[in-house]
Amino acid sequence: MKPGARDVRADAPDPLYEQLAAYAGRPAATAASGKDPVNAPMIRHWCEAMGDTSPAYRGPDAVAPPTMLQAWTMRGLAPDPEPDDRTGRSPAYDGLLRLLDGAGYTSVVATDCEQEYLRPLRPGDLITYDSVIESVSPRKTTKLGTGYFVTTRMDVRANGEPAGTHRFRILKYRPVERPTQRKAPLRPRPVINRDNAGFWAGVAEHRLLIQRCTRCATLRFPWLPGCNACAGQEWDTVEASGEGTVFSHVVMHHPSFPAFDPSGEGGPYAVALVELVEGVRIVGNVVGVPYDKVRVGLPVRLEFQRMDPDLELPVFRASEGG
Ligand code: ZN
Repeated sequence: MKPGARDVRADAPDPLYEQLAAYAGRPAATAASGKDPVNAPMIRHWCEAMGDTSPAYRGPDAVAPPTMLQAWTMRGLAPDPEPDDRTGRSPAYDGLLRLLDGAGYTSVVATDCEQEYLRPLRPGDLITYDSVIESVSPRKTTKLGTGYFVTTRMDVRANGEPAGTHRFRILKYRPVERPTQRKAPLRPRPVINRDNAGFWAGVAEHRLLIQRCTRCATLRFPWLPGCNACAGQEWDTVEASGEGTVFSHVVMHHPSFPAFDPSGEGGPYAVALVELVEGVRIVGNVVGVPYDKVRVGLPVRLEFQRMDPDLELPVFRASEGG
């Protein structure tokens, strides 16, 4: 019997575990190399993102923050490795995941990582690494669901010398069935104040009002107390015709906000910056096309959508198929 197999209850034989456990010790990647040598720009960006101002990571004698260990091994977002990209990837890890997927353990969550540092990394160091499937746990039941913890260990070298190890653990699991009768959350309320009250009064009448400086006629949106062009404080409004095009957009994947997803499911949704024909731009949801069909230049037309009994918002309906 393999170590740990006793964790499986006697009344719940687990032939899958025996198959999974056979992957322990098999390589996940062999003789792979980092895409870039350890370098000052990546160190600087990391420190900025982390807010780490330690002088150890700057100047001619800089070392890399030890916790960047894994960063030097990351493959990036490109879906296909470039021809000269030494990923060293072995089929064993994919095989293990396929086995779990096939058995219904289709969800995955990273649970923790542990690092051990053997030598500092300095700009110019060339990174190579091997990684191995270190262990697969017996079946466990967690709050997320029932599944197996898979631990991989990456041994990182710098110029051929051991530099550290990075253990990474995931849980591959079958999600707990949740009751579908979940009450959809409401969208947050807009903050209405004396500077923008006129805009929301327009929305209530299904009119999208743009402020216009009465001194220099510059249009402005969102609403502001004064004119950025001439500093004039007097204004009136013009009603937008409702025609526009997508000037820019993002797709929100994570974290999920069911209240913002037009389908109410919390899935990905597009947020667009729409340029109205009048020349000003407004942020809003695009409706009438799937989130992945929203594109720059997409013609859209204003409409007002009731989000809940107390909230109506301007949205933009794609006026072609996307
Ligand atoms: Zn003005």
